[in-house]
Amino acid sequence: MSKIGVTVLASGSNGNCTVVHCGEQAVMIDCGISLRTLRRRMKEEALEESWVKAILITHEHTDHIQGARTAAEHLGVPIYATAKCAEVLRNKFDFGVMTMITACSDFALSGFNVRAFPVSHDAVDTVGYLLSRESVKVGVATDLGQTNQMTHFQLRDCNTLVLESNYDINMLAASSRPWMLKTRILGPAGHLSNADNAKFLPAVVTRNTRNVVLAHISGDCNTYDIAERTARTALRDLARDDIFLTCGRRDAPIPTVWC
Ligand SMILES: [Zn+2]
Ligand SMILES: [Zn+2]
Repeated sequence: MSKIGVTVLASGSNGNCTVVHCGEQAVMIDCGISLRTLRRRMKEEALEESWVKAILITHEHTDHIQGARTAAEHLGVPIYATAKCAEVLRNKFDFGVMTMITACSDFALSGFNVRAFPVSHDAVDTVGYLLSRESVKVGVATDLGQTNQMTHFQLRDCNTLVLESNYDINMLAASSRPWMLKTRILGPAGHLSNADNAKFLPAVVTRNTRNVVLAHISGDCNTYDIAERTARTALRDLARDDIFLTCGRRDAPIPTVWC
């Protein structure tokens, strides 16, 4: 059985981009970084541009899409988005033809089985993605207002899970952000905190879980260290010190995790 690599090239409010790959076939999830940064980071992680066969979009917030059009043109690959998301991308961001996808309807792409699933983040139609191949499953959910039965169901039993851990509640409360923004982040359609992440992990981690990558970590309301310690404690409580735990970064790609 061939291994699936997950390479988080960028993660955070200034840009998100993840590549899921197997052999010479790869799918990109979001591209919120410039083409120049994308090319440099792919090279650093030994990802060939020719492997990428498509860019899947989670939602239209700029930290997920600002480099997508240029990257798709450069790589010569289609962009996949839900119909509502595609409409915003066309009307507001001048995207061209896209391939429409429907949430919870599986499709085959570049040797992967792909499923988008709805999450409660405050864009027009935000989705997370599951990519599987044979019995290996990867889940990517970087902007989650809150977890619910849908996210529990979809993200359970992933071999590699990329999961939001956006803010530390105390740091958010003490930050100078406007009250309206704090309310949005805290709300059911905002972001997932370290504590939310830690509470969610026991519901989705199974004996098949090998890697957890913490994602979308805030630069001013969180630290990599606090996010990692919180998740580590949750995994330790499950007696799962064997799970590889790491943080996606804003400023650099992180080495590929394999499952
Ligand atoms: Zn985001
Ligand atoms: Zn967002």
